[in-house]
Amino acid sequence: MSEPAPTVLLVEDEAQMRRFLRASLSASGFTLLEATTAAEGLSLAASHNPELILLDLGLPDEDGVSLTRRLREWSRTPIIIISARGREASKVEALDAGADDYLTKPFGVSELLARMRVALRHAALVGGAPAPVFDFGGLHLDCARREVKLDGQAVHLTPLEYRLLSLLAQHAGKVLTHGHILREVWGPGHAEQTHYLRVYMAQLRRKLEPDPARPRLLMTEPGVGYRLRDQP
Ligand code: CA
Repeated sequence: MSEPAPTVLLVEDEAQMRRFLRASLSASGFTLLEATTAAEGLSLAASHNPELILLDLGLPDEDGVSLTRRLREWSRTPIIIISARGREASKVEALDAGADDYLTKPFGVSELLARMRVALRHAALVGGAPAPVFDFGGLHLDCARREVKLDGQAVHLTPLEYRLLSLLAQHAGKVLTHGHILREVWGPGHAEQTHYLRVYMAQLRRKLEPDPARPRLLMTEPGVGYRLRDQP
């Protein structure tokens, strides 16, 4: 972590899970705030302004998705959902409500820390930051110069392909739902047209992946959306 002791708010009613996260996160240099209900979580988020929120979906007083919506009315703090619900519909619902990422229980500490780093880095970029440069796995994308290179060679993308790739790069490491991508790239009237997205993603993979059937960068999150991989 580059920032000293970022404050993380954990909203989780399961004592065992809180114990596990308390141990792992304090060992990794985070300051942890704990809430066991949605009401307590909302109030701690408002009073302490944490850098990141880890949120369980099944809370005793309110569903985590509805809490995410309420937090998003006034807060841009990254929210990572930690939930036993592995269903794709739950993931889409939580991400569309404004969560930044989703981890299905049980998960390992290193996976959690990697997702937290992505969320914190992304939050630091938002707000007047320069246009992003993506550089990983041989792909170089400079959004300010509209430059795309693969292994040092310029790649020609159509305007739509470029918008799709630069959207994924702006959120590198994060999963974006089909609906979110369609709204951002094609416009608000097209949120249901996932077949457009499939076609363009296949085109991008043909141009950017050595083996489009086994992508290394443009990753599918089945039933949820896509993620541009930005670390090994
Ligand atoms: Ca729970």
